[in-house]
Amino acid sequence: MSQSVLKENYDLVLNKVKRACERAGRDEKDVTLIAVSKTKPVEMLQEVYDYGCRDFGENKVQEIMDKYDKLPNDIRWHMIGHLQTNKVKYIVDKVYMIHSVDSIKLAKEISKEAVKKNVTVKILLEVNVAQEETKFGMMSDEVKEFYNEVIDLPGLKVCGLMTIAPYVEDSEENRQYFVKLRQLMVDMTEEKNDNKDVGELSMGMTGDYEVAIEEGATYVRVGTGIFGERNYFI
Ligand SMILES: *Cc1c(COP(=O)(O)O)cnc(C)c1O
Repeated sequence: MSQSVLKENYDLVLNKVKRACERAGRDEKDVTLIAVSKTKPVEMLQEVYDYGCRDFGENKVQEIMDKYDKLPNDIRWHMIGHLQTNKVKYIVDKVYMIHSVDSIKLAKEISKEAVKKNVTVKILLEVNVAQEETKFGMMSDEVKEFYNEVIDLPGLKVCGLMTIAPYVEDSEENRQYFVKLRQLMVDMTEEKNDNKDVGELSMGMTGDYEVAIEEGATYVRVGTGIFGERNYFI
């Protein structure tokens, strides 16, 4: 992909984010575009960094570790993929946020390793709102109990919820799931609403991020829309 195409893509996505915010009457600053760079070479990440992007999303621990040392240290790395407990220790002090926390065991491991390294990790709870069998994430009715169980763990800060909506041709079909995730966050915090950091909604990908923004997304995760198709299946 030539340099200008990457710039064109990035600008186009930024523009669509901006327009979706306008439509929804939201402040642009409340929505962060995460460039999902999995499988892409560091040269491409550096280029998007040079255009101003500071938030990058990866779904593999090894890939974060490989890229981490080769790129500027003011990048905010977002772990968006399924995370195995035995790999938490490698990234707990490297990532800005872990979007994919879906088990108590994982939350406890993050807590343990964060305390060991003297850091606080921001986490999101991953919810399978569409109840797809192939997806990770807790079920909607488990969210509140899960939240109450992990909220006081040391070394981590529960910031909100994340979902991966189904792959659909028409993004409108996913609006219901984005509405649902936002409602789940309201329900989750109704008792313990002293935690003011809870307010993040990570939802929306290349096919549906505009709808997600209209429904309250604070993080959108866009891969293909910026970097083009991924070359191999992961
Ligand atoms: C790959 C991935 C994305 C980006 O997907 P695109 O459709 O390429 O934008 C977003 N979120 C998660 C969790 C992913 O694994």
